[in-house]
Amino acid sequence: MDKILYMVVPCYNEEAVLEETTARLREKFESLIKEDKISPKSKVLYVNDGSKDKTWNLIKQIHEKDKMFRGICLSRNRGHQNAVLCGLMQAKEEADMVISMDADLQDDINAIDEMVDKYHEGFDVVYGVRNSRKTDTFFKRFTAQAYYKMLLFMGVDIVYNHADFRLMSKRVLKEMENYKEVNLFLRGIVPMIGFPSTNVYYERHERFAGESKYPLKKMLHFAFDGITSLSVKPIRLITTVGAGIFFLSICMLIYSIVIHFLGKSLVGWSSLMVSVWALGGLQIFSIGVIGEYIGKIYMETKARPRFIVQEYLNDDEE
Ligand code: UDP
Ligand code: MG
Repeated sequence: MDKILYMVVPCYNEEAVLEETTARLREKFESLIKEDKISPKSKVLYVNDGSKDKTWNLIKQIHEKDKMFRGICLSRNRGHQNAVLCGLMQAKEEADMVISMDADLQDDINAIDEMVDKYHEGFDVVYGVRNSRKTDTFFKRFTAQAYYKMLLFMGVDIVYNHADFRLMSKRVLKEMENYKEVNLFLRGIVPMIGFPSTNVYYERHERFAGESKYPLKKMLHFAFDGITSLSVKPIRLITTVGAGIFFLSICMLIYSIVIHFLGKSLVGWSSLMVSVWALGGLQIFSIGVIGEYIGKIYMETKARPRFIVQEYLNDDEE
């Protein structure tokens, strides 16, 4: 089989796990090559995301010893999503299929076989989906689930319980290149690109060594980015609230008039109440309307492709 597989592995301060990851990937690649599922030209691409420890030196040593492993060093820490993107964009030049995976061995290496099989069956995207969240703390499990539900509510198409362990074919990556946005949320972009896709289920392990590079603050930032870079629904929410309050002001108006004619109100009370509500509602509504246009501008500035052709049947014989 001559299909070349590239693995893209982002590394940020991962000196504690890198050797183990390398050994396991080497073993996996050997068996895949032996089974004739991937080409012997397949590679592992480590992307050093501005690590402050010896990660980059380690990658250089690994590459020195074994040319199956390659390294890219970013100029500074740019975050997980950007590190993965850099690796993907580099890999797509040489590979037929690319799998992105974390360095910490939380993703099950044995799922790679099934991903490659699915690729040979004709799938362009294979999502690694964890079948349980047993290794997570209650807090992480709860917040993650609430977050996925919220994204779905916001109209973002996202695969439930899927992180960034996935296989993508060359043509998917070629299309990804056209998504020019700076705030990149890969999980939301990949389903948007389309092409035949499927899931592979795996057990997520504990981190092999070292600690999570995603403290709560980074996590919240990432979560917020995910929503605001894929959806303009929050803006629409403002418009709805504004319209709602304006409607309430009409009710207030009727109520005030009734109270006024029953002679139970103080002088000036009715007009004050009505104007507070009506003006408040109108203001929020107007902000929402302006927001709608800003939302449109925001989406336009991303200059995303409007369609992607999967196949073209024509009668030109070459
Ligand atoms: N990572 C990165 N840049 C960062 C933070 C993390 O490249 O700024 C990498 C990290 O080395 C690992 C992957 O992203 O390979 C996932 O990070 P981590 O395991 O710390 O996240 P968690 O699994 O705890 O969500
Ligand atoms: Mg991890």
